[in-house]
Amino acid sequence: MFAEVDKDACIGCGACPEVCPEVFRMEDDDKAIAYKNPVPSEFLESAKEAAEGCPTEAIHFQE
Ligand code: SF4
Repeated sequence: MFAEVDKDACIGCGACPEVCPEVFRMEDDDKAIAYKNPVPSEFLESAKEAAEGCPTEAIHFQE
């Protein structure tokens, strides 16, 4: 499973790296990226939790 942040949708709230720092981090442009792909299975649940908590639904998953 691959995680992707839609940078146009991300408002840089910083929530996803707080929920799942193993997969998401903030970049210099104050937008989040998914830096660990494919998402290791042990972090998939928290990555999905981060996606559910994203206020702009900017995080998507693909097989
Ligand atoms: S939770 Fe959503 S809006 Fe907030 S930093 Fe992450 S991707 Fe961006």
